[in-house]
Amino acid sequence: MSQYSLPDLPYDYGALEPHLSGQIIELHHDKHHAAYVAGANTALEKLAEARDKGEFGALTGIEKNLAFHVSGHLLHSLYWQNMSPDGGGEPEGELAAAVVEDFGSVDALKTQMSQVIATVQGSGWAALSWEPVGQRLVVHQVLDHQDNVAAGSLPVFVIDGWEHAWYLQYKNVKADYVTAFWNVVNWADVATRFAKVRSVTLP
Ligand code: MN
Repeated sequence: MSQYSLPDLPYDYGALEPHLSGQIIELHHDKHHAAYVAGANTALEKLAEARDKGEFGALTGIEKNLAFHVSGHLLHSLYWQNMSPDGGGEPEGELAAAVVEDFGSVDALKTQMSQVIATVQGSGWAALSWEPVGQRLVVHQVLDHQDNVAAGSLPVFVIDGWEHAWYLQYKNVKADYVTAFWNVVNWADVATRFAKVRSVTLP
């Protein structure tokens, strides 16, 4: 009855080397991401159980777990697709035009996202998202997996800033991870996602 499942990686564990080690990708996908998938399914099961029994004493904790694990599953699923062994370079076409419109330049976007990762307190993400109220792209400094985001925003491009994403290779120098990340960014995937979500309007 599981609602969520771990997606396969779109490349081999070592495909993003030397920028991200195969050991990191294997642990990150097979252990960390898998744990969020399991946690999301557990939260759904516990909610069904609570409804069946009419016992909602633990509801607050289960709801927190649901938000945390579903968000973790979503962001990691995006993260794998947002990277490619053939990545790097610059965005093109309508994505590039939208970035220039909303951030001033591609470099300004990259700087903002890099600074979001560098300055996040604790664990979090940088997320480029379609914000359907203002009809624009924004960058969020996501805390954990689920906090500090404008409701309704749809992420199209994320960078994982959690220590498990980089510490084995980059130790305490998180800035080097972010610098290396830009060599594997899959702008074509981001552009495809942007084209899908930009027609969403709220409210
Ligand atoms: Mn992660």
